[in-house]
Amino acid sequence: MFEVDCVRRFTVEGEALRGEFVRLGPAWLALREYADYPPPVRQLLGEVATAAVLLAASLKFEGELTLQLQGDGPVSLLVAQCTHDFRLRAVARFKAERVESEHGFRELAGDGRIVVSIESARTPTYQGIVALTGQTLAESLEHYFDSSEQLQTAVRLTADEMGTAGLLVQRLPLTREVTNDPTARLAAARVSMASIGADELLARRVPDILQRAVVGVDLRLFDAQAVSFQCRCSLERVQGMLKVLGEAECRDLLAERGGIDITCEFCHRPWHFDPVDVEQIFAPALDMPPGSTVVN
Ligand SMILES: [Zn+2]
Repeated sequence: MFEVDCVRRFTVEGEALRGEFVRLGPAWLALREYADYPPPVRQLLGEVATAAVLLAASLKFEGELTLQLQGDGPVSLLVAQCTHDFRLRAVARFKAERVESEHGFRELAGDGRIVVSIESARTPTYQGIVALTGQTLAESLEHYFDSSEQLQTAVRLTADEMGTAGLLVQRLPLTREVTNDPTARLAAARVSMASIGADELLARRVPDILQRAVVGVDLRLFDAQAVSFQCRCSLERVQGMLKVLGEAECRDLLAERGGIDITCEFCHRPWHFDPVDVEQIFAPALDMPPGSTVVN
């Protein structure tokens, strides 16, 4: 597979168009390593995760972007978070008994909304909310860009078990003279993008895909930036949670169940602590040489 787990920005010479292409492979597998999603939910989650990378690549910020789909369908919540340097995690909440194999986007999500928020240390939290519209997530995102960002945008998303891909083409505000009417060019790009097969998006060379999407133009393609899966859960954080819970409570849990099991609610990774692990968490650090740390 060409150019995987990365995002590439591009501009179109002489035209008021820009965009980016993202493709995920191993990062997509790592993201759901501990979670077991039914295929329709998995596909939608893949699209949402990919869309979060596209959003992060198209907006200027330093921090974390969260894309949420909240609806009244069988999939009540989809959340994907992507940092400005493309560390990505995502989770879906769904009612398994209501998910059927032939379900499309709107049957899964129902009526609801898209919420995009950006947390940054430097600027106040940004939040944009739009209603879910159209029959695909891509259409809802186009609506989001149109109404929240006032930027006409064409979006194409696809996901399967092994990989995902996303393409975004956006009209720039006119700051200089351009050869072609950008609105017409974007409309043409949207039609071309729809004609590119999912298998092509997942496997073909990025320049070939972009030439198909925006026909007959001089594309300036920037270097690929890596995208990786990264959840915030870690041994240190979970140990910290147990410390907050307190020694007495932890010992009660050990007595009751023989061990303590904690599952990350974001990536579903299970963390298990046996009596020796718990002993180490609450042991006074007196017998440790100065400057050393515990390594399991
Ligand atoms: Zn996690």
